[in-house]
Amino acid sequence: MRFVVRTHSPEETRLLGEILADLAGEGALFALGGDLGAGKTVFIQGVARALGIDEVVTSPTFTLVNEYHGRCPLYHVDLYRMSGPVDVWDLGLEDYLEGRGVVAVEWADKAGELLDLPLVWKLFFSISGKEEREIEVVPPPEVEVSKLKEALTLGGFEVLEWRGF
Ligand code: ADP
Ligand code: MG
Repeated sequence: MRFVVRTHSPEETRLLGEILADLAGEGALFALGGDLGAGKTVFIQGVARALGIDEVVTSPTFTLVNEYHGRCPLYHVDLYRMSGPVDVWDLGLEDYLEGRGVVAVEWADKAGELLDLPLVWKLFFSISGKEEREIEVVPPPEVEVSKLKEALTLGGFEVLEWRGF
């Protein structure tokens, strides 16, 4: 199943991150793709908010991973600077993936194995206007579609497309 949401402001993208993180719970993995400036970091700011983290979340620039502590840990990984395909196990990401924390990875397509892990939410961000973004979401199969639809409706999201059910 997949769906496409359109957001009209950074705050709306943040709210999407917050809502999806609430649904996903501990141990979730968000694998994010899409161009620079498309809103991946902004989305993760919403994930952080869902976990009660009030530190400012910015992309890890000099490190590969930023770690935050809220209701559960949040590991924010950015593979932007990695040239070529990345081996998740070489990077030592398994410690994060096996814990109860939430893992959010920008440029996840550089580490293809991530996309096949259990509980992975795949998100692809596109810039469709100055303040407009289209976000394609593939939730893990375990997710209850009715709950997802309800949460998106409550959030007032513009859903462009539902596919696969
Ligand atoms: P990425 O991490 O994908 O490179 P960022 O989240 O760092 O992108 O940056 C997104 C930029 O786009 C921010 O400057 C943000 O203010 C701006 N922006 C404008 N509209 C939106 C929107 N609808 N959703 C997310 N970001 C938006
Ligand atoms: Mg970023």
